[in-house]
Amino acid sequence: MKQQRSNALFARARELMPGGVNSPVRAFRSVGGDPFFVARADGPFLFDVDGNRYIDYVGSWGPMITGHNHPRVREAVERAARDGLSFGAPCPAEVTMAETLTRLVPSCEMVRMVNSGTEATLSAIRLARGATGRARIVKFEGCYHGHGDSFLVKAGSGALTFGVPDSPGVPKALADLTLTLPYNDFDAASALFDRSGDDIAGLIIEPVVGNANCLPPREGYLRHLRELCTRHGAVLIFDEVMTGFRVALGGAQARYGVAPDLTTFGKIIGGGMPVGAYGGRRELMEQVSPAGPVYQAGTLSGNPVAMAAGLAMLELVQEPGFHQRLEATANALCDGLEAAAQEAGVPFTSNRVGAMFGMFFTESPMVDSYAGAVACDAAAFARFFRAMLGRGVFLAPSAFEAGFVSAAHDEAIVAETIEAARAAFAAVRQ
Ligand code: PMP
Repeated sequence: MKQQRSNALFARARELMPGGVNSPVRAFRSVGGDPFFVARADGPFLFDVDGNRYIDYVGSWGPMITGHNHPRVREAVERAARDGLSFGAPCPAEVTMAETLTRLVPSCEMVRMVNSGTEATLSAIRLARGATGRARIVKFEGCYHGHGDSFLVKAGSGALTFGVPDSPGVPKALADLTLTLPYNDFDAASALFDRSGDDIAGLIIEPVVGNANCLPPREGYLRHLRELCTRHGAVLIFDEVMTGFRVALGGAQARYGVAPDLTTFGKIIGGGMPVGAYGGRRELMEQVSPAGPVYQAGTLSGNPVAMAAGLAMLELVQEPGFHQRLEATANALCDGLEAAAQEAGVPFTSNRVGAMFGMFFTESPMVDSYAGAVACDAAAFARFFRAMLGRGVFLAPSAFEAGFVSAAHDEAIVAETIEAARAAFAAVRQ
């Protein structure tokens, strides 16, 4: 595969940006090799500056659930851009967006738009603290909620990939207010709430973990957390930045039938533009400024072009059968990968939840804990990643990220991927 242009760009970038990138996992550090630079994207494909084509299972880390460059989203952006890029005053699309989100996710009676998932989660815990008058928050090992100080404690995603789950620069006094739990452990959660429940402002969780590979919740686990939070007056926050509109139209809360007090969103609701949101019960959201005293603001929040992209994307995901088709694609892909691994004699298993999936190089038949995810063979994953990339398939460049399928990944694309995986698994064994 030609890489000259990408390599030249990366050499320039490394001099100018930390690690040569604007977000750490993009640098390919944990999987080896140098990143490719993207010239354009279409449907299930990325095309790099050297003219290589990749089947993409990253989907811009989530937003591209209908495939890249969907004409309906692109046209909505073009139309909105003709009327101006930012107003700094209310615009009609913000109201439509709020109506759409509150209709599709009924636990959100009110919402506030922000510009990223990080902003959404930061704002949600400030609200939980402001509303309860308590300081402590609870998060789970391996969960990632963006790069806010309080969350860089036993964090997942790039923080885990690079071995810095607890980031320097976070004051100890603040980090001490973040309590952590092992995901899917019922007793540990009960014990923590028995001990400290009345000091806990809120508990935030990725209801399906997507930042420590892909870990589904055990039967009844989310309900258990709901009950603990209710009993102790703590705010239950589902971080649905990844799962929202993906594992079901109404997100993980619809799939598992558990309503949180607050929900955070990102990715899909921006259709590829920088957008996030948080929402929840009316009496909580009415604590947010200017309705209430908890301050939170944003110059570009509710941006008209971003709202147009998000609304177009949210229309597409509401089409009948949309999520069933994605789920069938993820199942076909994972079944095919498991069969190819078995043929090659490579210990491997997968998880799938709706359009999210995880790949585990392990002898264990089921991985649903953080400890299980970190015990997998990361070196085998790195060899697999490189072998797949060399065959034109782009997987998330870390063993600790979920993969995503889109509506543009059809049977032929899945078959091509599985064909590449047959050879790639053989390379893993060597
Ligand atoms: N929460 C979750 C569950 C995420 O996966 C991410 C990003 N991958 C974030 C929050 C942060 O979102 P952003 O990168 O848009 O700040």
